[in-house]
Amino acid sequence: MVVMGICFLGNGPSGICLSYLLSGHTPYVSQDAAHPNPLLQHKLREQPDLSLLEQDLEYLCEGLEGRSSNPVAVLFDSLLLPDSDFGLEHSSPLIWRYEPERAIPHLVLGRGPPGGAWHAMEGSMLTLSLANWMELPGLKLKDWLREKRRNVRNDRATPAEIALYYQHYVSQKSLEQNFACGTTVTEVTRVHGDGDEPCWRVTGVQRREGEELGEEVPFSILARNVVLATGTHDIPARLRVDGESLPFVCHSFWELEAAISRGELDELSEPVLVVGAGLTAADAVLATRHLSAPVYHAFRRSVTDPGLIFNQLPKLLYPEYHKVHQMMTQQQYGSPTSSSSSSSYPNYLSFPKHRVVKFLPNKKCILESDLGQKTAIQVSKALVLIGSHPNLSFLPDHGRSLGVYRNEPISCRRNPIDVDPFTNRVTEAPGMYAMGPLVGENFVRFLKGGALAIVSDLHKRQKLLMDDTWVRADTDWSIKG
Ligand SMILES: Cc1cc2nc3c(=O)[nH]c(=O)nc-3n(C[C@H](O)[C@H](O)[C@H](O)COP(=O)(O)OP(=O)(O)OC[C@H]3O[C@@H](n4cnc5c(N)ncnc54)[C@H](O)[C@@H]3O)c2cc1C
Repeated sequence: MVVMGICFLGNGPSGICLSYLLSGHTPYVSQDAAHPNPLLQHKLREQPDLSLLEQDLEYLCEGLEGRSSNPVAVLFDSLLLPDSDFGLEHSSPLIWRYEPERAIPHLVLGRGPPGGAWHAMEGSMLTLSLANWMELPGLKLKDWLREKRRNVRNDRATPAEIALYYQHYVSQKSLEQNFACGTTVTEVTRVHGDGDEPCWRVTGVQRREGEELGEEVPFSILARNVVLATGTHDIPARLRVDGESLPFVCHSFWELEAAISRGELDELSEPVLVVGAGLTAADAVLATRHLSAPVYHAFRRSVTDPGLIFNQLPKLLYPEYHKVHQMMTQQQYGSPTSSSSSSSYPNYLSFPKHRVVKFLPNKKCILESDLGQKTAIQVSKALVLIGSHPNLSFLPDHGRSLGVYRNEPISCRRNPIDVDPFTNRVTEAPGMYAMGPLVGENFVRFLKGGALAIVSDLHKRQKLLMDDTWVRADTDWSIKG
Protein backbone atom coordinates (compact mmCIF):
# COMPACT_ATOMS: atom_id res chain seq x y z
CA MET A 1 0.00 0.00 0.00
CA VAL A 2 1.30 3.47 -0.90
CA VAL A 3 -0.12 6.63 0.61
CA MET A 4 0.27 9.86 -1.32
CA GLY A 5 -1.17 13.26 -2.23
CA ILE A 6 -2.39 13.03 -5.80
CA CYS A 7 -2.85 10.12 -8.10
CA PHE A 8 -4.11 10.48 -11.61
CA LEU A 9 -5.57 7.91 -13.85
CA GLY A 10 -4.67 8.20 -17.51
CA ASN A 11 -1.33 9.10 -19.09
CA GLY A 12 -2.54 10.78 -22.28
CA PRO A 13 -2.02 14.47 -23.08
CA SER A 14 -4.24 15.40 -20.09
CA GLY A 15 -2.15 13.47 -17.57
CA ILE A 16 1.13 14.62 -19.13
CA CYS A 17 0.18 18.30 -19.10
CA LEU A 18 -1.01 18.06 -15.51
CA SER A 19 2.21 16.32 -14.45
CA TYR A 20 4.25 19.11 -16.09
CA LEU A 21 2.45 21.81 -14.12
CA LEU A 22 2.53 19.81 -10.88
CA SER A 23 6.28 19.24 -11.23
CA GLY A 24 7.05 22.90 -10.59
CA HIS A 25 6.92 24.31 -14.14
CA THR A 26 5.19 27.60 -13.46
CA PRO A 27 3.68 30.05 -15.96
CA TYR A 28 4.19 33.80 -15.46
CA VAL A 29 3.16 36.65 -17.72
CA SER A 30 6.18 38.33 -19.26
CA GLN A 31 6.42 42.02 -18.36
CA ASP A 32 7.36 42.97 -21.93
CA ALA A 33 4.73 40.90 -23.71
CA ALA A 34 1.53 42.34 -25.11
CA HIS A 35 -1.56 40.18 -25.45
CA PRO A 36 -3.71 41.04 -28.51
CA ASN A 37 -6.83 41.17 -26.30
CA PRO A 38 -6.59 44.62 -24.61
CA LEU A 39 -8.93 43.74 -21.72
CA LEU A 40 -6.98 40.59 -20.87
CA GLN A 41 -3.70 42.47 -21.30
CA HIS A 42 -4.90 45.07 -18.81
CA LYS A 43 -5.85 42.42 -16.26
CA LEU A 44 -2.58 40.53 -16.71
CA ARG A 45 -0.63 43.70 -15.86
CA GLU A 46 -2.39 44.10 -12.50
CA GLN A 47 -0.39 41.46 -10.61
CA PRO A 48 2.75 40.92 -12.66
CA ASP A 49 4.65 39.13 -9.91
CA LEU A 50 2.04 36.47 -9.30
CA SER A 51 2.25 33.28 -11.29
CA LEU A 52 -0.78 32.36 -13.36
CA LEU A 53 -1.44 29.54 -10.89
CA GLU A 54 -2.02 32.03 -8.07
CA GLN A 55 -4.11 34.50 -10.02
CA ASP A 56 -7.90 34.65 -9.89
CA LEU A 57 -8.76 32.58 -12.95
CA GLU A 58 -12.44 33.45 -12.82
CA TYR A 59 -11.59 37.15 -13.03
CA LEU A 60 -9.16 36.64 -15.93
CA CYS A 61 -11.74 34.56 -17.80
CA GLU A 62 -14.51 37.15 -17.65
CA GLY A 63 -15.48 38.38 -21.11
CA LEU A 64 -13.29 35.91 -23.02
CA GLU A 65 -14.86 33.96 -25.86
CA GLY A 66 -13.56 31.02 -27.83
CA ARG A 67 -14.33 27.67 -29.36
CA SER A 68 -14.60 25.88 -26.04
CA SER A 69 -17.45 26.32 -23.61
CA ASN A 70 -14.98 25.96 -20.75
CA PRO A 71 -13.74 29.42 -19.62
CA VAL A 72 -10.34 28.31 -18.27
CA ALA A 73 -9.71 26.33 -21.47
CA VAL A 74 -10.33 29.49 -23.51
CA LEU A 75 -8.10 31.55 -21.20
CA PHE A 76 -5.14 29.14 -21.27
CA ASP A 77 -5.47 28.61 -25.03
CA SER A 78 -5.48 32.35 -25.67
CA LEU A 79 -2.35 32.71 -23.50
CA LEU A 80 -0.51 29.79 -25.08
CA LEU A 81 -1.54 30.47 -28.70
CA PRO A 82 -2.98 33.97 -28.95
CA ASP A 83 -5.29 34.53 -31.95
CA SER A 84 -4.54 31.11 -33.41
CA ASP A 85 -8.13 30.82 -34.66
CA PHE A 86 -7.23 33.45 -37.22
CA GLY A 87 -4.17 31.48 -38.32
CA LEU A 88 -1.92 34.13 -36.71
CA GLU A 89 1.29 33.20 -34.95
CA HIS A 90 1.27 35.75 -32.16
CA SER A 91 3.92 34.84 -29.60
CA SER A 92 2.73 33.69 -26.20
CA PRO A 93 3.00 36.23 -23.36
CA LEU A 94 3.75 33.36 -20.96
CA ILE A 95 7.20 32.59 -19.65
CA TRP A 96 7.81 29.29 -17.87
CA ARG A 97 9.98 29.14 -14.77
CA TYR A 98 11.06 25.91 -13.15
CA GLU A 99 10.37 26.27 -9.43
CA PRO A 100 10.97 22.85 -7.87
CA GLU A 101 9.88 24.12 -4.45
CA ARG A 102 6.34 24.32 -5.86
CA ALA A 103 6.31 20.73 -7.06
CA ILE A 104 3.53 18.56 -5.67
CA PRO A 105 4.29 14.82 -5.49
CA HIS A 106 2.01 12.86 -7.77
CA LEU A 107 1.71 9.60 -9.64
CA VAL A 108 0.37 9.09 -13.16
CA LEU A 109 -1.09 5.67 -13.93
CA GLY A 110 -1.72 4.49 -17.47
CA ARG A 111 -2.14 1.30 -19.43
CA GLY A 112 0.30 1.98 -22.23
CA PRO A 113 3.18 4.36 -22.87
CA PRO A 114 2.66 8.11 -22.23
CA GLY A 115 0.52 9.60 -25.01
CA GLY A 116 -2.82 7.88 -24.43
CA ALA A 117 -5.24 7.62 -27.33
CA TRP A 118 -2.55 8.79 -29.76
CA HIS A 119 -0.79 5.44 -29.55
CA ALA A 120 -4.01 3.67 -30.49
CA MET A 121 -4.44 5.96 -33.52
CA GLU A 122 -0.97 5.32 -34.87
CA GLY A 123 -2.17 3.64 -38.02
CA SER A 124 -4.53 6.41 -38.99
CA MET A 125 -3.27 8.54 -41.85
CA LEU A 126 -4.65 11.93 -41.02
CA THR A 127 -4.72 14.51 -38.27
CA LEU A 128 -7.34 17.04 -37.61
CA SER A 129 -5.90 20.05 -35.85
CA LEU A 130 -3.15 22.41 -36.80
CA ALA A 131 -0.11 20.70 -35.32
CA ASN A 132 0.64 23.39 -32.73
CA TRP A 133 -2.83 22.88 -31.25
CA MET A 134 -1.67 19.45 -30.12
CA GLU A 135 1.52 20.65 -28.46
CA LEU A 136 2.06 20.83 -24.71
CA PRO A 137 3.58 23.83 -22.89
CA GLY A 138 7.32 24.37 -23.12
CA LEU A 139 8.16 22.21 -26.16
CA LYS A 140 7.29 23.47 -29.62
CA LEU A 141 5.87 20.63 -31.67
CA LYS A 142 7.11 22.25 -34.87
CA ASP A 143 10.69 22.50 -33.58
CA TRP A 144 10.62 18.87 -32.51
CA LEU A 145 9.14 17.82 -35.85
CA ARG A 146 11.72 19.84 -37.72
CA GLU A 147 14.46 18.04 -35.86
CA LYS A 148 12.86 14.71 -36.66
CA ARG A 149 12.11 15.15 -40.34
CA ARG A 150 14.22 17.43 -42.49
CA ASN A 151 11.48 19.67 -43.86
CA VAL A 152 7.97 20.09 -42.55
CA ARG A 153 5.69 20.14 -45.55
CA ASN A 154 2.65 21.52 -43.80
CA ASP A 155 1.29 22.42 -40.41
CA ARG A 156 0.01 18.93 -39.73
CA ALA A 157 1.51 15.82 -38.24
CA THR A 158 0.54 12.15 -38.24
CA PRO A 159 -0.87 10.54 -35.08
CA ALA A 160 2.28 8.38 -34.84
CA GLU A 161 4.41 11.53 -34.72
CA ILE A 162 2.18 13.13 -32.10
CA ALA A 163 2.34 9.97 -29.96
CA LEU A 164 6.16 10.03 -30.17
CA TYR A 165 6.18 13.74 -29.33
CA TYR A 166 4.22 13.06 -26.11
CA GLN A 167 6.58 10.26 -25.15
CA HIS A 168 9.58 12.47 -25.86
CA TYR A 169 7.97 15.31 -23.89
CA VAL A 170 7.78 13.16 -20.75
CA SER A 171 11.49 12.33 -20.90
CA GLN A 172 12.61 15.80 -22.04
CA LYS A 173 10.79 17.43 -19.13
CA SER A 174 12.12 14.74 -16.71
CA LEU A 175 8.65 13.63 -15.71
CA GLU A 176 9.31 9.86 -15.98
CA GLN A 177 9.65 9.34 -12.25
CA ASN A 178 6.00 10.29 -11.88
CA PHE A 179 4.75 7.84 -14.50
CA ALA A 180 3.81 4.24 -13.77
CA CYS A 181 3.05 2.84 -17.20
CA GLY A 182 1.66 -0.65 -17.81
CA THR A 183 -0.83 -0.13 -14.98
CA THR A 184 -4.55 -0.76 -15.22
CA VAL A 185 -6.82 0.67 -12.55
CA THR A 186 -9.63 -1.71 -11.65
CA GLU A 187 -11.24 0.01 -8.68
CA VAL A 188 -11.44 3.47 -7.10
CA THR A 189 -13.33 3.74 -3.83
CA ARG A 190 -13.73 6.33 -1.11
CA VAL A 191 -12.36 5.02 2.19
CA HIS A 192 -12.11 6.33 5.73
CA GLY A 193 -8.83 5.57 7.52
CA ASP A 194 -8.67 5.30 11.32
CA GLY A 195 -9.34 8.85 12.41
CA ASP A 196 -7.81 10.11 9.14
CA GLU A 197 -9.56 12.27 6.62
CA PRO A 198 -11.36 10.25 3.97
CA CYS A 199 -9.30 9.46 0.92
CA TRP A 200 -9.39 7.35 -2.25
CA ARG A 201 -8.20 3.80 -2.58
CA VAL A 202 -6.95 3.10 -6.10
CA THR A 203 -6.38 -0.56 -6.90
CA GLY A 204 -5.30 -2.32 -10.03
CA VAL A 205 -2.61 -4.39 -11.66
CA GLN A 206 0.80 -3.51 -13.03
CA ARG A 207 2.54 -5.37 -15.84
CA ARG A 208 6.11 -5.92 -14.82
CA GLU A 209 8.85 -5.47 -17.37
CA GLY A 210 11.50 -8.13 -17.66
CA GLU A 211 9.46 -10.68 -15.77
CA GLU A 212 7.56 -13.61 -17.16
CA LEU A 213 5.40 -12.71 -20.11
CA GLY A 214 2.15 -11.08 -19.11
CA GLU A 215 2.79 -11.24 -15.38
CA GLU A 216 0.64 -8.70 -13.62
CA VAL A 217 1.19 -7.63 -10.05
CA PRO A 218 -1.64 -6.15 -7.99
CA PHE A 219 -1.17 -2.71 -6.42
CA SER A 220 -3.13 -0.49 -4.07
CA ILE A 221 -2.65 3.22 -3.39
CA LEU A 222 -4.30 5.59 -0.95
CA ALA A 223 -4.51 9.13 -2.26
CA ARG A 224 -6.03 12.29 -0.85
CA ASN A 225 -6.94 13.44 -4.37
CA VAL A 226 -7.53 11.57 -7.59
CA VAL A 227 -7.77 12.99 -11.08
CA LEU A 228 -9.79 11.15 -13.74
CA ALA A 229 -8.02 11.64 -17.07
CA THR A 230 -8.83 8.35 -18.74
CA GLY A 231 -10.22 9.78 -21.99
CA THR A 232 -13.23 8.45 -23.80
CA HIS A 233 -11.86 6.19 -26.50
CA ASP A 234 -12.09 2.87 -24.76
CA ILE A 235 -15.35 1.28 -25.87
CA PRO A 236 -16.54 1.65 -29.48
CA ALA A 237 -20.19 2.70 -29.68
CA ARG A 238 -22.56 0.10 -31.12
CA LEU A 239 -25.69 0.45 -33.23
CA ARG A 240 -27.51 -2.18 -31.16
CA VAL A 241 -29.12 -3.83 -34.17
CA ASP A 242 -29.55 -7.49 -35.13
CA GLY A 243 -26.50 -9.13 -36.66
CA GLU A 244 -24.03 -6.57 -35.30
CA SER A 245 -21.84 -9.34 -33.89
CA LEU A 246 -21.49 -11.14 -37.24
CA PRO A 247 -17.81 -11.50 -38.21
CA PHE A 248 -18.01 -9.14 -41.22
CA VAL A 249 -19.18 -6.25 -38.98
CA CYS A 250 -16.28 -4.30 -37.40
CA HIS A 251 -16.16 -1.46 -34.91
CA SER A 252 -12.68 -0.05 -35.31
CA PHE A 253 -10.43 1.42 -37.94
CA TRP A 254 -7.87 -1.24 -37.01
CA GLU A 255 -9.99 -4.04 -38.31
CA LEU A 256 -10.14 -2.25 -41.67
CA GLU A 257 -6.37 -1.84 -41.67
CA ALA A 258 -5.91 -5.51 -40.80
CA ALA A 259 -8.18 -6.49 -43.70
CA ILE A 260 -6.22 -4.18 -46.00
CA SER A 261 -2.89 -5.65 -44.94
CA ARG A 262 -4.25 -9.19 -45.50
CA GLY A 263 -5.04 -8.09 -49.06
CA GLU A 264 -8.76 -8.73 -48.61
CA LEU A 265 -9.95 -5.55 -50.33
CA ASP A 266 -9.48 -4.34 -53.90
CA GLU A 267 -11.50 -2.96 -56.80
CA LEU A 268 -13.16 -6.34 -57.34
CA SER A 269 -14.45 -6.67 -53.78
CA GLU A 270 -18.06 -6.17 -52.84
CA PRO A 271 -18.50 -2.66 -51.37
CA VAL A 272 -17.34 -1.84 -47.85
CA LEU A 273 -20.13 -0.22 -45.86
CA VAL A 274 -18.92 2.65 -43.64
CA VAL A 275 -21.47 3.72 -41.03
CA GLY A 276 -20.98 7.15 -39.42
CA ALA A 277 -20.15 10.70 -40.42
CA GLY A 278 -17.29 11.61 -38.09
CA LEU A 279 -13.62 11.88 -38.90
CA THR A 280 -12.78 8.24 -38.25
CA ALA A 281 -15.53 7.25 -40.70
CA ALA A 282 -14.04 9.75 -43.17
CA ASP A 283 -10.61 8.17 -42.69
CA ALA A 284 -12.13 4.77 -43.44
CA VAL A 285 -13.77 6.07 -46.64
CA LEU A 286 -10.45 7.51 -47.79
CA ALA A 287 -8.47 4.38 -46.91
CA THR A 288 -10.92 2.13 -48.75
CA ARG A 289 -11.05 4.35 -51.82
CA HIS A 290 -7.26 4.46 -51.82
CA LEU A 291 -7.42 0.74 -52.69
CA SER A 292 -10.08 1.51 -55.34
CA ALA A 293 -12.47 -0.72 -53.40
CA PRO A 294 -16.13 0.38 -53.68
CA VAL A 295 -17.69 2.16 -50.68
CA TYR A 296 -21.22 2.58 -49.37
CA HIS A 297 -21.45 5.28 -46.75
CA ALA A 298 -24.51 5.47 -44.46
CA PHE A 299 -25.14 8.18 -41.85
CA ARG A 300 -28.12 9.64 -40.03
CA ARG A 301 -27.70 13.35 -40.66
CA SER A 302 -28.28 15.26 -43.89
CA VAL A 303 -25.16 16.46 -45.71
CA THR A 304 -26.05 20.08 -44.99
CA ASP A 305 -26.65 19.56 -41.26
CA PRO A 306 -24.61 22.26 -39.45
CA GLY A 307 -23.78 19.72 -36.72
CA LEU A 308 -21.87 17.59 -39.24
CA ILE A 309 -18.16 17.99 -38.46
CA PHE A 310 -17.36 18.64 -42.16
CA ASN A 311 -19.54 21.74 -42.07
CA GLN A 312 -17.42 23.07 -39.21
CA LEU A 313 -13.91 22.53 -40.58
CA PRO A 314 -12.12 25.17 -42.66
CA LYS A 315 -11.94 23.73 -46.20
CA LEU A 316 -8.49 25.05 -46.96
CA LEU A 317 -6.90 23.42 -43.94
CA TYR A 318 -8.54 20.03 -44.36
CA PRO A 319 -8.75 19.34 -48.10
CA GLU A 320 -9.14 15.56 -47.76
CA TYR A 321 -12.10 15.85 -45.38
CA HIS A 322 -13.59 18.46 -47.68
CA LYS A 323 -13.26 15.90 -50.47
CA VAL A 324 -15.16 13.31 -48.44
CA HIS A 325 -17.90 15.84 -47.78
CA GLN A 326 -18.07 16.58 -51.50
CA MET A 327 -18.47 12.88 -52.21
CA MET A 328 -21.20 12.60 -49.58
CA THR A 329 -23.01 15.50 -51.23
CA GLN A 330 -22.56 14.66 -54.89
CA GLN A 331 -22.98 10.89 -54.82
CA GLN A 332 -26.20 10.44 -52.89
CA TYR A 333 -28.21 7.26 -53.29
CA GLY A 334 -31.21 7.88 -55.54
CA SER A 335 -29.89 11.12 -57.07
CA PRO A 336 -29.49 11.04 -60.89
CA THR A 337 -25.88 12.32 -60.85
CA SER A 338 -24.71 9.54 -58.56
CA SER A 339 -25.19 6.85 -61.19
CA SER A 340 -23.76 8.78 -64.11
CA SER A 341 -20.63 7.20 -65.54
CA SER A 342 -18.98 10.63 -65.70
CA SER A 343 -19.22 10.95 -61.91
CA SER A 344 -16.07 12.36 -60.31
CA TYR A 345 -16.27 9.77 -57.55
CA PRO A 346 -17.02 6.39 -59.08
CA ASN A 347 -17.36 3.46 -56.69
CA TYR A 348 -18.71 5.64 -53.87
CA LEU A 349 -22.35 6.02 -52.84
CA SER A 350 -23.68 7.89 -49.81
CA PHE A 351 -26.88 7.12 -47.90
CA PRO A 352 -27.61 10.33 -45.94
CA LYS A 353 -30.46 10.24 -43.41
CA HIS A 354 -30.32 6.43 -43.30
CA ARG A 355 -29.99 4.07 -40.37
CA VAL A 356 -28.95 0.44 -40.28
CA VAL A 357 -31.88 -1.86 -39.49
CA LYS A 358 -29.96 -5.16 -39.43
CA PHE A 359 -27.05 -7.17 -40.75
CA LEU A 360 -27.67 -10.63 -42.23
CA PRO A 361 -25.33 -13.66 -42.25
CA ASN A 362 -25.13 -13.53 -46.07
CA LYS A 363 -23.36 -10.13 -45.72
CA LYS A 364 -26.47 -8.18 -46.68
CA CYS A 365 -27.36 -5.09 -44.75
CA ILE A 366 -30.81 -3.50 -44.53
CA LEU A 367 -30.84 0.30 -44.44
CA GLU A 368 -33.87 2.49 -43.79
CA SER A 369 -34.27 6.14 -44.82
CA ASP A 370 -35.89 8.70 -42.53
CA LEU A 371 -38.98 8.36 -44.77
CA GLY A 372 -39.18 4.67 -43.90
CA GLN A 373 -37.92 3.35 -47.25
CA LYS A 374 -35.87 0.16 -46.86
CA THR A 375 -32.91 -0.79 -49.07
CA ALA A 376 -30.91 -4.04 -49.00
CA ILE A 377 -27.23 -3.79 -49.95
CA GLN A 378 -24.62 -6.50 -50.42
CA VAL A 379 -21.30 -5.73 -48.75
CA SER A 380 -17.94 -7.38 -48.11
CA LYS A 381 -17.42 -5.72 -44.74
CA ALA A 382 -19.27 -3.22 -42.55
CA LEU A 383 -17.41 -0.68 -40.45
CA VAL A 384 -19.45 0.88 -37.69
CA LEU A 385 -17.52 4.03 -36.72
CA ILE A 386 -19.96 6.10 -34.71
CA GLY A 387 -17.84 7.21 -31.74
CA SER A 388 -16.81 5.66 -28.48
CA HIS A 389 -17.61 5.63 -24.77
CA PRO A 390 -15.32 5.93 -21.78
CA ASN A 391 -14.69 2.85 -19.69
CA LEU A 392 -15.28 3.90 -16.09
CA SER A 393 -15.84 0.36 -14.82
CA PHE A 394 -13.41 1.12 -11.96
CA LEU A 395 -15.98 3.48 -10.41
CA PRO A 396 -19.15 2.43 -8.61
CA ASP A 397 -21.95 2.14 -11.18
CA HIS A 398 -19.50 3.16 -13.95
CA GLY A 399 -19.43 6.73 -12.62
CA ARG A 400 -23.06 7.39 -13.56
CA SER A 401 -23.66 9.41 -10.40
CA LEU A 402 -20.98 11.91 -11.49
CA GLY A 403 -22.53 13.06 -14.78
CA VAL A 404 -24.33 16.28 -15.58
CA TYR A 405 -27.36 14.01 -16.00
CA ARG A 406 -27.19 11.75 -12.95
CA ASN A 407 -27.56 8.01 -13.47
CA GLU A 408 -26.93 8.15 -17.22
CA PRO A 409 -23.74 6.80 -18.85
CA ILE A 410 -20.88 9.33 -19.04
CA SER A 411 -20.14 10.51 -22.57
CA CYS A 412 -17.98 13.33 -23.90
CA ARG A 413 -20.74 15.04 -25.82
CA ARG A 414 -24.02 14.11 -24.18
CA ASN A 415 -23.23 13.60 -20.53
CA PRO A 416 -19.80 14.80 -19.37
CA ILE A 417 -18.72 14.54 -15.72
CA ASP A 418 -20.10 17.51 -13.80
CA VAL A 419 -17.18 19.66 -12.60
CA ASP A 420 -16.69 23.17 -11.27
CA PRO A 421 -15.55 25.17 -14.34
CA PHE A 422 -12.75 27.02 -12.50
CA THR A 423 -11.28 24.17 -10.46
CA ASN A 424 -12.37 20.99 -12.33
CA ARG A 425 -13.41 19.50 -8.97
CA VAL A 426 -16.06 16.83 -9.48
CA THR A 427 -19.26 18.18 -7.98
CA GLU A 428 -20.42 14.89 -6.53
CA ALA A 429 -17.10 13.55 -5.21
CA PRO A 430 -14.87 15.48 -2.79
CA GLY A 431 -11.17 15.05 -3.52
CA MET A 432 -11.83 13.99 -7.10
CA TYR A 433 -11.01 16.02 -10.23
CA ALA A 434 -11.70 15.24 -13.89
CA MET A 435 -10.35 16.64 -17.14
CA GLY A 436 -10.13 16.09 -20.89
CA PRO A 437 -12.85 14.39 -22.94
CA LEU A 438 -14.48 13.13 -19.72
CA VAL A 439 -15.56 16.71 -19.05
CA GLY A 440 -16.47 17.37 -22.69
CA GLU A 441 -13.07 18.76 -23.78
CA ASN A 442 -12.23 16.52 -26.69
CA PHE A 443 -9.37 18.49 -28.22
CA VAL A 444 -5.82 18.64 -26.87
CA ARG A 445 -5.89 22.36 -27.60
CA PHE A 446 -8.45 22.89 -24.85
CA LEU A 447 -7.86 20.09 -22.37
CA LYS A 448 -4.75 21.97 -21.14
CA GLY A 449 -7.13 24.43 -19.45
CA GLY A 450 -8.30 21.60 -17.18
CA ALA A 451 -4.70 21.07 -16.03
CA LEU A 452 -4.35 24.78 -15.24
CA ALA A 453 -7.63 24.81 -13.29
CA ILE A 454 -6.66 21.74 -11.23
CA VAL A 455 -3.11 22.84 -10.41
CA SER A 456 -4.27 26.36 -9.58
CA ASP A 457 -6.87 24.91 -7.20
CA LEU A 458 -4.29 22.60 -5.59
CA HIS A 459 -1.85 25.48 -5.11
CA LYS A 460 -4.54 27.54 -3.46
CA ARG A 461 -5.09 24.64 -1.08
CA GLN A 462 -1.37 23.98 -0.79
CA LYS A 463 -1.19 24.47 2.93
CA LEU A 464 -3.38 21.42 3.22
CA LEU A 465 -1.25 19.50 0.78
CA MET A 466 2.04 20.17 2.57
CA ASP A 467 1.36 17.18 4.77
CA ASP A 468 0.20 15.07 1.88
CA THR A 469 3.50 14.03 0.43
CA TRP A 470 4.37 10.35 0.31
CA VAL A 471 4.27 9.24 3.91
CA ARG A 472 4.41 5.50 3.66
CA ALA A 473 5.64 3.16 1.00
CA ASP A 474 5.74 -0.40 2.17
CA THR A 475 5.28 -2.04 -1.17
CA ASP A 476 7.62 -2.95 -3.98
CA TRP A 477 6.19 -0.29 -6.23
CA SER A 478 7.95 0.04 -9.55
CA ILE A 479 7.65 3.18 -11.62
CA LYS A 480 8.37 3.02 -15.29
CA GLY A 481 8.42 5.83 -17.84
C1 LIG B 1 -9.46 9.08 -34.48
C2 LIG B 1 -9.25 10.25 -33.55
C3 LIG B 1 -8.66 11.41 -34.04
C4 LIG B 1 -8.44 12.49 -33.19
N1 LIG B 1 -7.85 13.60 -33.71
C5 LIG B 1 -7.61 14.65 -32.91
C6 LIG B 1 -6.94 15.82 -33.40
O1 LIG B 1 -6.57 15.90 -34.56
N2 LIG B 1 -6.71 16.83 -32.54
C7 LIG B 1 -7.06 16.78 -31.23
O2 LIG B 1 -6.80 17.74 -30.50
N3 LIG B 1 -7.69 15.71 -30.74
C8 LIG B 1 -7.98 14.64 -31.53
N4 LIG B 1 -8.59 13.55 -31.02
C9 LIG B 1 -8.98 13.58 -29.60
C10 LIG B 1 -7.78 13.23 -28.69
O3 LIG B 1 -7.59 11.86 -28.75
C11 LIG B 1 -8.06 13.64 -27.31
O4 LIG B 1 -8.24 15.03 -27.28
C12 LIG B 1 -6.90 13.37 -26.32
O5 LIG B 1 -6.16 12.22 -26.63
C13 LIG B 1 -7.48 13.25 -24.94
O6 LIG B 1 -6.43 13.13 -24.01
P1 LIG B 1 -6.61 12.44 -22.60
O7 LIG B 1 -5.26 12.41 -22.01
O8 LIG B 1 -7.68 13.13 -21.83
O9 LIG B 1 -7.17 10.99 -22.91
P2 LIG B 1 -6.54 9.82 -23.79
O10 LIG B 1 -5.58 10.35 -24.81
O11 LIG B 1 -7.68 9.00 -24.24
O12 LIG B 1 -5.66 9.00 -22.73
C14 LIG B 1 -6.25 8.34 -21.66
C15 LIG B 1 -5.34 7.20 -21.22
O13 LIG B 1 -5.90 6.62 -20.04
C16 LIG B 1 -5.73 5.23 -20.11
N5 LIG B 1 -6.71 4.54 -19.30
C17 LIG B 1 -8.04 4.45 -19.50
N6 LIG B 1 -8.61 3.69 -18.54
C18 LIG B 1 -7.61 3.29 -17.71
C19 LIG B 1 -7.54 2.48 -16.55
N7 LIG B 1 -8.63 1.91 -16.03
N8 LIG B 1 -6.33 2.27 -15.97
C20 LIG B 1 -5.22 2.82 -16.48
N9 LIG B 1 -5.23 3.60 -17.59
C21 LIG B 1 -6.39 3.83 -18.19
C22 LIG B 1 -5.96 4.91 -21.59
O14 LIG B 1 -5.40 3.66 -21.92
C23 LIG B 1 -5.25 6.09 -22.25
O15 LIG B 1 -3.91 5.77 -22.44
C24 LIG B 1 -8.83 12.44 -31.83
C25 LIG B 1 -9.39 11.27 -31.33
C26 LIG B 1 -9.61 10.18 -32.17
C27 LIG B 1 -10.23 8.92 -31.61
